[in-house]
Amino acid sequence: MTDTISIVLPVFNEEAGIKTTIDTLENYVAKQPEDYELIFVDDGSKDKSVDIIKSELEHNDNIKLVEFSRNFGHQIAITAGLQYTSGDAVVVMDADLQDPPEVIPSMIKKWHEGYDIVYGKRKQRDGESFFKKFTAAMFYRTFKKLATIDMPLDTGDFRLMNRKAVTQMQRLHEQDPFVRGQVTWIGFKQTSVEYHRHERIAGETKYPLSKMIKLALDGITSFSMKPLQLVSFFSVLPLVGGLIYLIYLIAVGGFTAPTVGITLMLFSVGLVFLSLGIFGSYLGRVLDQVNDRPRFIVRDTVGFQERQSSIHRLETRQRVSR
Ligand code: UDP
Ligand code: MG
Repeated sequence: MTDTISIVLPVFNEEAGIKTTIDTLENYVAKQPEDYELIFVDDGSKDKSVDIIKSELEHNDNIKLVEFSRNFGHQIAITAGLQYTSGDAVVVMDADLQDPPEVIPSMIKKWHEGYDIVYGKRKQRDGESFFKKFTAAMFYRTFKKLATIDMPLDTGDFRLMNRKAVTQMQRLHEQDPFVRGQVTWIGFKQTSVEYHRHERIAGETKYPLSKMIKLALDGITSFSMKPLQLVSFFSVLPLVGGLIYLIYLIAVGGFTAPTVGITLMLFSVGLVFLSLGIFGSYLGRVLDQVNDRPRFIVRDTVGFQERQSSIHRLETRQRVSR
């Protein structure tokens, strides 16, 4: 049986290059043994991107379009795109051909070898500023230290996921998803293929610094509690400082209004930070609960039909009763 591959492409103001992307992909798809559907998710473009896609859609029945009512962001566009896929496997890629379609066959090969998720690992990045590469490298290395998941370095959102993985991704309901973190979090058998990331074919990056910062913060706050816990440590310095100063005052008998004031101030600053730390730890738990991720994911079961369906019933009942 022929495999069907869904390609999800988030689009935001890509009029300059979208036609080339469609032509290149159609050309690529025509030569492949698999069946393909190309799902463009228009993330509230204000230019002619939608018109161009629509006119291509008329004579290519493997092209589909999901249009957002406004710009919700790249990560949401990917998340939504997954919901509309029907292929046996799904590939997510940029609409600017920075992720070359020639890499897809090697992803499919790994999938056929038994991997559920195959991510593209950038071994070279063309046409991106030193600032972008440097901040990205710093972010991934910091993230690795802070996060509870072991996200592979130098990967973006270019990857293949099989149907099982996509189904599990659809169970995550985060408001501000950090997709590459979620993909790591769901587990399964994951591997990578290396690729050379090209310069975008046309137009400017749609990721200004503000969106990069939001992405980085979403990544850290959804996968690490460490910054919250760190707040408690800020209390140690003023508290210990206050205590030492108090002992010193008792020893030398130097109680005056200013010295008592300094002692009180050190103590209270310490207590404020300590309280923030405690609040933070609780807030972290609330955040976890609000994220509402399923508590576990079963990759496969063999010969446990009864048990599996009862686990499913239990999960469903718990979710409905919340
Ligand atoms: N994109 C989107 N919504 C946004 C920003 C970007 O759908 O708010 C799309 C964009 O059209 C592209 C992909 O997401 O297909 C990645 O964005 P971009 O290529 O600008 O990021 P970069 O590759 O420069 O990191
Ligand atoms: Mg790009």
